[in-house]
Amino acid sequence: MKRNTWQREAVREALDGTEGFISAQALHSTLHSSGSPIGLATVYRALGDLASSGEADSLQSPDGEALYRACSTTGHHHHLICRNCGLTVEIAADEVEAWAKTVAAEHGFTGAAHVVDVFGLCANCTKLQAAGE
Ligand SMILES: [Zn+2]
Ligand SMILES: [Zn+2]
Ligand SMILES: [Zn+2]
Repeated sequence: MKRNTWQREAVREALDGTEGFISAQALHSTLHSSGSPIGLATVYRALGDLASSGEADSLQSPDGEALYRACSTTGHHHHLICRNCGLTVEIAADEVEAWAKTVAAEHGFTGAAHVVDVFGLCANCTKLQAAGE
C-alpha cells in the first residue's frame, strides 16, 4: 500500500537533508524547528513506511534505538557508522554475503536475510580524540 501524504513527503525531504542516520525523535524536532506542525507519531509512521518501501534504510543503534537514513545506494548493502559524529559509509561486504549464505544452508534455512552494520569511531573523530588526550 502506497500512501503519498504531505506528511510522508515532509519526512522524506527532512531525511534527504540529513547526513547520517537519525532517530524519529531527532527528525521530528528538526521538522518542528523548521515550522512543520507534524506530530511525532506521524513521523514514526512515515519513517516506517519509507523503510518498508525501501526508500530509507533503518537500523538499530547499539542503544537499541531505531535510526533512519535516505541511502544513496539502493539494494542490499551494509554501513559503517561513526558513533560520535554519525558519519556513515555505505559498504559492500562480499565475505558476509558468502558466509551468511553458507551458514544458513548448513542449517537448512532458505530465504535467509541479514542486517550487518558496523559502529565505530571515524578517522576524523579518532584524530580529534587522540588530540584531546
Ligand atoms: Zn544505506
Ligand atoms: Zn566521526
Ligand atoms: Zn549483506
